[in-house]
Amino acid sequence: MTRPQTARIALNRPLRRLFDYAIPPSVEVRPGQRVQVPFGRQSLTGLVVETGVEPPPGITLKTLSEPLETWSALPESTFRLLTWASDYYQHPLGECLFTALPPALRRGRPAQTKAEQHWRAVESEAALPGNAHRQKALLETIVAAPGITSSSLVGAGFTRAQIRSLENRGAIIQTEPPSDRAAPDSGLPAPKLSPAQQEAADQLPGSTRTFCASLLYGVTGSGKTELYLDYLKQHLGQDEQALVLVPEINLTPQTLARFRRYFGNRIVVWHSALNDGERLATWLKVRHGEPVILIGTRSAVLLPFTGLRTIIVDEEHDSSYKQGEGFRYSGRDVAVYRAHLNQCPIILGSATPSLESWHNAHQGKYRLITLGERAGKARPPELALLDIRSRPLQAGLCKPALDAIHQTLARGEQALVFVNRRGFAPVMMCFDCGHIAECPHCDTRLTYHRRDRAMRCHHCDYQQAAQQTCPKCSSENYQPVGQGTERTEETLTEAFPETPVVRVDRDSTQRRGSIQSILDQVNTGQPCVLVGTQMLAKGHDFPNVTLVVVVNADGGLFSVDFRAPEQMIQTLLQVSGRAGRGDKPGRVLIQTCHSDHPLLHALCRGDYRSIADQLLTERESGQLPPFRSMAILRAEADSMQASLQLLDSLKPLAQATGIDVWGPLPAVIARKANRHRAQLVLCSNSRGQLNQSLTRLCQHLDQSRLPPGSKWIVDVDPQET
Ligand code: ADP
Ligand code: ZN
Ligand code: ZN
Repeated sequence: MTRPQTARIALNRPLRRLFDYAIPPSVEVRPGQRVQVPFGRQSLTGLVVETGVEPPPGITLKTLSEPLETWSALPESTFRLLTWASDYYQHPLGECLFTALPPALRRGRPAQTKAEQHWRAVESEAALPGNAHRQKALLETIVAAPGITSSSLVGAGFTRAQIRSLENRGAIIQTEPPSDRAAPDSGLPAPKLSPAQQEAADQLPGSTRTFCASLLYGVTGSGKTELYLDYLKQHLGQDEQALVLVPEINLTPQTLARFRRYFGNRIVVWHSALNDGERLATWLKVRHGEPVILIGTRSAVLLPFTGLRTIIVDEEHDSSYKQGEGFRYSGRDVAVYRAHLNQCPIILGSATPSLESWHNAHQGKYRLITLGERAGKARPPELALLDIRSRPLQAGLCKPALDAIHQTLARGEQALVFVNRRGFAPVMMCFDCGHIAECPHCDTRLTYHRRDRAMRCHHCDYQQAAQQTCPKCSSENYQPVGQGTERTEETLTEAFPETPVVRVDRDSTQRRGSIQSILDQVNTGQPCVLVGTQMLAKGHDFPNVTLVVVVNADGGLFSVDFRAPEQMIQTLLQVSGRAGRGDKPGRVLIQTCHSDHPLLHALCRGDYRSIADQLLTERESGQLPPFRSMAILRAEADSMQASLQLLDSLKPLAQATGIDVWGPLPAVIARKANRHRAQLVLCSNSRGQLNQSLTRLCQHLDQSRLPPGSKWIVDVDPQET
């Protein structure tokens, strides 16, 4: 009797193992193909990892189904990338592989899409009411990309209702899908570069067939996006694919419109707001090798490209490239590895490069290309510190700052006020007994949200109605302390009753498309005050913003997290970069209680280069990344003792592998949603040694019986420590 052919299958389960199945006679399967397999009483979708494996003797294997399609859902190059990532990040292979499939295919649905609606404009300048900004933007998008699908438009932040409404006005009609599978680009020549931009462009690699990593260090507003466009125009072949990674918030219609202008229908998008159908449609284009230029957030780097010839990572320092849960990969780092595997160029762009990339440039691993001046007529903003020690403040703003806002508005310009916390105030405090409201489930304080008079925990879902009096001593002297976006918004609305005050934070932008209508309002150029968090710091181009006020710069100066100073400087320079991007000069006022701090002085000189060098020197003397490789093993349990015990038992094992181990120590927020969290920090001079050590530890943990309620995770190259 001949033994059946066998296949090793990966399942979408958090298990560090694969499963063997028999292949039915006369069926052929290849690695990367989807199959259905019996698993317990269920039928699961699996991915073939290898065939022809020798099953353990004496075991009767269950049989898998015919492949769900004739082709491999994961082509070899993507498969290799994910196998590497699974090993590097110590995450189960099955879950890594499934991350590269759209949700519909993970669930075993057919790899087909419903017929799509394609649109073209009837006339490019239809008469639309003056206030129909979104519809005008929609029409412009369709004019730039005739044949564009409803999904792509929705992906770009428009709504189906807006599309219908334009159709009803007769401004657009449905059209045939472009007959040729290869979507041609718009045919518009590359943008005209300034001499400085041209000089930078000349240093980028000429060939899309060899690996080359370039770090494009270009100050805010220097025209990095223009350079990306030019690069793709000059170098990407008509049948080749490109990937442009952007942080979530940067994927604005403004950015997309710039790409669509030059590449029309070749532009497709990938981000968290797409629905399952939109994801599947885009995934299929990528998988079938259509010559797309895909603009997407983090997970786009895992898509099954088959003709990828250029990767661009915009704002490469952005912390949103690192996935914070589950498969904790860094989209930027995976992108660099992908370019290497694929032998194609990668361009990492930023005005404030990460210290990792800066270090790689110093070491000659990346080619450093500098764009030192702003494009067009824009000049660098002027930065100044405002020491607020013992100055009277009005909701956190000192008089010179308020005066500056007043003058800006009087000139018909816009001001931006940066606050690093959403909500009304960080805490409610009793001025009699000192009581501060805390989350009952976390070791954190509750944030007061004035709008709905609620106290919320920003680390779990807990909320409660705000109390009028101190819950401890019943004093009526129970008041909000500190600054949140809502409170600043309120103060500014009172101070400037004639002027719109627009708040931009996670609370005000939850609805799909709401950030767009906010940005549209700002882009009219009418005087207004923008108040917002991080969200406002990134990538936006508001030509009429000429003043930026930073309410408090001190958060990152004295944090326990070794990355805090880097992140603080990056955020402050990025937010400063929103000032004076048009023809008018920009000014930045930074409120601080530490106006003599050397880091803030360097910041005011706007000299990121010397700041980065300085911070790198500190990292080196502290033996920290990027000079050493680091991973964190986190444990959580129902008690701190249980978490610490679990890690204590691992410490000798970790040390025996020759790496350095610190801890275990309680995490910075030791209790979150009633889980007690502790961590062990693992470091080594050798990436390989750290990886081997982690593999040993994970194997050991997999085979150990953990106390009930305990959990562990590994975080390689952690962003938060
Ligand atoms: P960055 O991505 O570096 O922040 P952008 O590419 O967004 O910069 O460019 C900033 C502004 O300068 C944009 O409004 C852009 O249209 C303009 N700009 C860029 N390059 C040029 C150029 N060569 N000539 C004129 N304006 C330019
Ligand atoms: Zn009290
Ligand atoms: Zn909480």
